[in-house]
Amino acid sequence: MSAYKDKDPRIHGIKTKIRVVPNFPKPGIMFQDITTLLLDPQAFRDTIDLFVERYKGKNISVVAGIEARGFIFGPPIALAIGAKFVPLRKPKKLPGEVISEEYVLEYGRDCLQMHVGAVEPGDRALVVDDLIATGGTLCAAMNLLERVGAQVVECACVIELPDLKGRERLHGKPLYVLVESH
Ligand code: AMP
Repeated sequence: MSAYKDKDPRIHGIKTKIRVVPNFPKPGIMFQDITTLLLDPQAFRDTIDLFVERYKGKNISVVAGIEARGFIFGPPIALAIGAKFVPLRKPKKLPGEVISEEYVLEYGRDCLQMHVGAVEPGDRALVVDDLIATGGTLCAAMNLLERVGAQVVECACVIELPDLKGRERLHGKPLYVLVESH
């Protein structure tokens, strides 16, 4: 599912504000830089509004944001839909008891951790990140949530790199994106 295909008039403005930086952080990567989107209050607001319009009234109890850029988009969505926000962090950042999931990135290996007790059995979860590439990060995030008994309702990203087929790694879980980049 993609707002891009629905041709919402706000999507064009959002897409034009995302800066594409070739060969960052290493050769061959086309880095999608959302910091330029954040500089435009209208485009940033439109981004949050599109997600809020989709998830309001869907009985979502937790928004799980992936470090670091999921921490930019997740909290305003959580506040607007009346859900709690739970950060999924890189190792050794969370002070309490954690559960961990390792995963493979487009550029390297990594691990996500979540505080035990932050998400409870029966919670209805939305997973938020800025971008899906190979899908490994979202997959690890969903595993963390499902291991503690939450139901992942959907994953939401601003940008999808469809050529990397990350969607196929989500085991059929719905993914909603605003912008596709090839
Ligand atoms: P993946 O696990 O391969 O889907 O990678 C997604 C994660 O890596 C997200 O947290 C993104 O912020 C980051 N990422 C991967 N590729 C890119 C890219 N081309 N531009 C910006 N961020 C990226």
